[in-house]
Amino acid sequence: MKEITTTEFNNEVLAGGKVILDFYSTECPPCEALASKFEDLSKLYGNDIKFLKIYRQQNRDLANKLGVKSSPTLLFFNEGKETGERLSGGIRRSDIIHNLDLMLSESRREVIKTQIKPFVSEYDVIILGAGPGGLTAGLYLCQSKINTVLVDIALPGGQVSTTHEVSNYPGFIEPQAGYLLSHNMSEQTKLCGTVYKVAVDVTKVDLIKKEIVIDDFETIKAKKIVIATGTTPNSTGATGEKGLKGKGISYCATCDAKFFDNKEVVVIGGGNSAVEESDFISRFASKVTIVHQFDKFTANKKAQDKIFANPKMNIIFNSEPRAFIKDGDKMITEIENLLTGVHTKLVSDGVFIFIGMKPNIELFRSELELDQWGYIKADENMQTSLSDIYAVGDVISKKYRQITTAVADGTIAAMAIAKELN
Ligand SMILES: Cc1cc2nc3c(=O)[nH]c(=O)nc-3n(C[C@H](O)[C@H](O)[C@H](O)COP(=O)(O)OP(=O)(O)OC[C@H]3O[C@@H](n4cnc5c(N)ncnc54)[C@H](O)[C@@H]3O)c2cc1C
Repeated sequence: MKEITTTEFNNEVLAGGKVILDFYSTECPPCEALASKFEDLSKLYGNDIKFLKIYRQQNRDLANKLGVKSSPTLLFFNEGKETGERLSGGIRRSDIIHNLDLMLSESRREVIKTQIKPFVSEYDVIILGAGPGGLTAGLYLCQSKINTVLVDIALPGGQVSTTHEVSNYPGFIEPQAGYLLSHNMSEQTKLCGTVYKVAVDVTKVDLIKKEIVIDDFETIKAKKIVIATGTTPNSTGATGEKGLKGKGISYCATCDAKFFDNKEVVVIGGGNSAVEESDFISRFASKVTIVHQFDKFTANKKAQDKIFANPKMNIIFNSEPRAFIKDGDKMITEIENLLTGVHTKLVSDGVFIFIGMKPNIELFRSELELDQWGYIKADENMQTSLSDIYAVGDVISKKYRQITTAVADGTIAAMAIAKELN
């Protein structure tokens, strides 16, 4: 592995051969998360592919010329020409390998695969998921001198890191940018000494043996596991939803309704949460248009009566969203009437989607006792139906899912574990 500067770029990268180039920065947590994977892969692939690093801050002109806009960004070159897919953000080892393999022959790839040596590491506690629940558990365990590893398929921070502003987390007078709040939570836990393995593929979780496999070759064993994997909102499937998450589309009325004082919003959904949250949003908004796919709501009767009596409500049945578009400060929701096929555009200041959440439990669903909606049942110590397995935050069966409640769960689990292990 070699560090280069702009003046060496032509010779080292464009002159020929196979190259992977890492544009990195300092004070960049995703760059830190990448560094060990980059080094490790350079040992495996280094005979075939040149591993180069370049410090973006001091080579800005080159970065701009190549259109590199964030750190880290990985670029791949074959015989002087850029190839494969650029990778940036929380870069997984498997994505790097995929791009490296594209430059090699099949036989060479097979030889390299045989050189990957599986290994086992051991900790007292594995925390799966580095959102507020997992990060808080990590902080408390670390402060109790318990050897803990935090494992996340993405970068640390959880849902908070993609939240525009958080105004209900105690201790801050002004609303905090979500990414900053989650960054501070993560740094606090990391500085304490908790080991991070983030942007990894979690390929196997065995709750009975208390071990997990990451990136297919590292087995991590522990005395206890804390599950803090959170939830994923169900998606409408309409175009534009993914990109506008947190930038015009919200999934949390408690968190965001207050930003729509005297404004107009569109709500997608018709079950209990859509109807109850619409009522809550109407305390702030001047108009709430609810779009529901069926010809009646599926929410409880009391909540429906409230909605029908609320003069701020505009209800559109038999319709589904097809596209979300940002137009300046406004959101355009294109809906289709399922009976007539006619498309209509609704202009509003923001969109809320309440069509259910799903707990992230795919890898261990069958091993745990769940509630009727698929959330993990946990007792007052956050212990699940399996001994030594705890669960905290949004992934557990509970009524209110907020940062404060996830943080509280993480605290309780860590204190209960610390008491047992000490
Ligand atoms: C758009 C939006 C805005 C919000 N705004 C607010 C707000 O203003 N105030 C507030 O209090 N709450 C807000 N919330 C709710 C709040 O974000 C959640 O209650 C909180 O983040 C839950 O924390 P958690 O640690 O349980 O899970 P999450 O924050 O969801 O974190 C779970 C973590 O687990 C990781 N993970 C998932 N699967 C795996 C796996 N198999 N292995 C390893 N890791 C895995 C994920 O990558 C993620 O990092 C908002 C939610 C959303 C969606």
